[in-house]
Amino acid sequence: MERTNLTFRGGVHPLGNKDISNRIPIADAKLPAEVRISMHQHIGAPCEPTVNVGDVVKVGQVIGQSEAFVSAVIHASISGTVKEISEIVTATGNVKAVVIEGDGSEEKAYIEEINSLDSFTPEEIIAKIKNAGITGLGGASFPAHVKISPPADKPIDTVIINGAECEPYLTADQLQMEEAPEKIVKALQALMKALSASKGYIAIEDNKPNAIGKIKEAAKGTDIDVAVFKTKYPQGDEKRIIDALLDRQVPAGGLPLDVGVVVQNVSTAIAMYDAVYLGKPLYERVITVTGDAVKSPCNIRVRMGTPIEEVIEQAGGFMKTPGKIIAGGPMMGIAQPSLHMYTLKGMGGLLCLSEEAAKLPKPTNCINCGRCVDACPVHLQPVNIAKYTERQNFEMAAKYHALDCVECGSCSFICPAKRPLVENIRLAKREIRAKEKRA
Ligand code: SF4
Ligand code: SF4
Repeated sequence: MERTNLTFRGGVHPLGNKDISNRIPIADAKLPAEVRISMHQHIGAPCEPTVNVGDVVKVGQVIGQSEAFVSAVIHASISGTVKEISEIVTATGNVKAVVIEGDGSEEKAYIEEINSLDSFTPEEIIAKIKNAGITGLGGASFPAHVKISPPADKPIDTVIINGAECEPYLTADQLQMEEAPEKIVKALQALMKALSASKGYIAIEDNKPNAIGKIKEAAKGTDIDVAVFKTKYPQGDEKRIIDALLDRQVPAGGLPLDVGVVVQNVSTAIAMYDAVYLGKPLYERVITVTGDAVKSPCNIRVRMGTPIEEVIEQAGGFMKTPGKIIAGGPMMGIAQPSLHMYTLKGMGGLLCLSEEAAKLPKPTNCINCGRCVDACPVHLQPVNIAKYTERQNFEMAAKYHALDCVECGSCSFICPAKRPLVENIRLAKREIRAKEKRA
């Protein structure tokens, strides 16, 4: 049964800017001569290198792992020789990286299989996803095997593949839904089997009619439904999807599994298809390279650890002086401190804004219009959290539920005074969590 016109309370309508890249088919990036693969590409414990300088490695070979449950194994993305193990700069600090000098042979450490779901037990499906090092590729980078291993007292009845892709500019998920809809349907079937879930949905916003058509066609004859949502930001937030589709509310501080649901995004589903049906580990992903500063915006499949400078070069390079490079989209993406950065599992886009487009308007005084409150999908009072944060009163910021903020940026976007609301709320969250740790 098709569900349409689904939506949530609050949210905003930023300019989509998806037409810049949503008609460009996915292309494979040139094989990088060298990759610098971060050992910490996920939420949880970082990996330690399992290779040494001088080792010869194959594509898909394990090069980093951790004993911790909340972690994700890391694989070589090219074949070659480990040149060094050193630190690289990332937007969240310095991390250890394995540097591989490519030999171009593309020799693989795994055998590509074509498996049928019938041959696997639920435990084997989860193990395949874990061994492939899959993390949430929508940006959250949470290890996928953890998300699909709920405790026994939290049974899952519904799995949702999140194809909302509500972030402006990003089109990688849309293109993958159009080009590989069967993979997404099959990945959902695998997840439903792994979790013994009886219901499966693929959630898509109504600004992607081609993707909706292709997915519907691929899902014909299965017990999977397509759910169509009104285009509104942040519809892709998993709690907004669950609320709009199932009328279930994830409790504050809770997770979708608290209401019997698992949500995985489209890119993650494709990686799961590759892992379960083909035996392929996660060492490449599709990213959107876009923005007014690049010559030829595109959707491109890149190997992990590729220099972002090289990726931008394959989008024709810069045609304007870049003012800001953002990993992800403009609402929730992370500004990159330099061009000497490397692709990661959680990097779904490279938004390159010119100096002019990146210029932020000067904030003025709050006029108490309440628009930020109306826009907040979590029903918070961003104006009050931000005001208390500015006064360093984090106790009051906590009382206004700062920790429930999903950092969607809708409040900052809508504010006519251009107050840095989400930045202040992020700061409040950091301070509140630091205080909780000290206590
Ligand atoms: S307070 Fe947080 S959740 Fe609410 S609109 Fe602002 S960024 Fe989004
Ligand atoms: S939207 Fe901006 S100006 Fe209006 S109440 Fe919120 S912070 Fe103040």
